[in-house]
Amino acid sequence: MSWEVIRFNVEHACTMTSLKQNHKHLDSDVICSYVKLVVEKNPRVFVFVLVASIRNTFGYITTYYKAWMAKRKAMTLWYGNWDQSYNELPRLLQAMKFFIPGTIVRYYTHTAITLEGDVIPKNRIFDGLLWAFKPAIERFRFCKQMIQVDGTFLYGLYRNVLMIVVAQDGDRNIFPIAFAIVKKESEETWNFIISNLCSHVVTQAGVCMISDRSSGLLSTIGRPENRWTPPHGYLAYSIRHIASNAMKRFKQKNIKKEIINMGYALLQPNFRARLENLRRYEDDVYEFAAEIPIEIWSQAYDVKGRRYDHMTTNLAECINSVLKMTRRLPIASIVRETYFRLGKVWAEKSSQIDVMISDERNWALDLEKAMQKNQTHATSIFVHNFARLDSDFVVQALVRPHEGGNSTTYTSNLNRRWCDRGRFQAFKFPCAHAVVTCMHINVDPYFYVDYCYSLHTMRNIYSCDFKYLPNEAY
Ligand SMILES: [Zn+2]
Repeated sequence: MSWEVIRFNVEHACTMTSLKQNHKHLDSDVICSYVKLVVEKNPRVFVFVLVASIRNTFGYITTYYKAWMAKRKAMTLWYGNWDQSYNELPRLLQAMKFFIPGTIVRYYTHTAITLEGDVIPKNRIFDGLLWAFKPAIERFRFCKQMIQVDGTFLYGLYRNVLMIVVAQDGDRNIFPIAFAIVKKESEETWNFIISNLCSHVVTQAGVCMISDRSSGLLSTIGRPENRWTPPHGYLAYSIRHIASNAMKRFKQKNIKKEIINMGYALLQPNFRARLENLRRYEDDVYEFAAEIPIEIWSQAYDVKGRRYDHMTTNLAECINSVLKMTRRLPIASIVRETYFRLGKVWAEKSSQIDVMISDERNWALDLEKAMQKNQTHATSIFVHNFARLDSDFVVQALVRPHEGGNSTTYTSNLNRRWCDRGRFQAFKFPCAHAVVTCMHINVDPYFYVDYCYSLHTMRNIYSCDFKYLPNEAY
């Protein structure tokens, strides 16, 4: 294996106007002020790359140890003292549990042992941590019954991974409901996250989990103790994940595009036709797509609309809205920030929704717009066959030919919240065909809109306060 040293695009950072050739002056403090700039731009820079960069900038060959020390100093400068922060954690978490009863904190640790293999009593090694605040846990039932799980690397001294469980209200506002920091992603750390998530955070049945991650997650999700298998929980893949796997394997943009289009196809016959169409490729593209369980990645086969029309995850959006810059902080500060920032989001949304309700609005803005569009579209459809089967209303409708539409027949079923064009079940509010059915039987179409889109439901989420946490209480 060969290593290539790449050039850094950092400004010349030498703090002295001229460096004496006596290299005693190039001690770790001088190097540190240079390294500080490099580390700020790229906290994950390798030490051997720093050594090469110092050589290029100062014409001096420093030792690996000296550069390592400089990087460590720079990391402490930018990101605080990590070791101290780890020691601060238990006290902070204890305080959070005390002041916010119902807050979930779970450690993932292993026994500390000496070099001789003896157990060091009362000493545990940190492997991970999961935390979730009571207001978010308690009010998740008013959100879309769907979570997104994703992760991102932290910038600190240790290359930890921050995993976030994201929920979404009916107005597309997203916020994290649980966090975990683990040393690395593995089957065991996933098991730690999923088992605690099921036992303490998302305890209701029927929730769909969308994720980009697969290897460790997949192998833990089906464990009987985790209960994240139907009907308790449903797994769905982000279409981005499938598409990037396809790209990695076949290295063809058109295949990637076809896979994405298949995922978004709303009709099952359309999905099946597209799948068959993949046989034209010489590579085993068809086999690749056919091997993935259909209900995990196809919107057409998400027959209960468990994904709420979400085919990807919104991690980046969530980081920008709630966690911006926190990835730079030491661990205790990350935990503390998640509480205060979530509290801020809560307060803002609560007052926004109150204003909307006082304006006599009942529904999320996007939902209102979509329903108005469907109601307008409905005026160009007329019912030519209506049947009441048991308690179901089944309607066959025709687009008026003089309106320029096709004279296609549609079937929709209100009680099953289903339409043969796929939109009603996928979006969880009546499509134009369902609106026509409602008009025919004189029922308000909003009766069939999922409760999560109601502003009153949303107010229930944010009406729960994030209590004041005394700053130095712990
Ligand atoms: Zn429809």
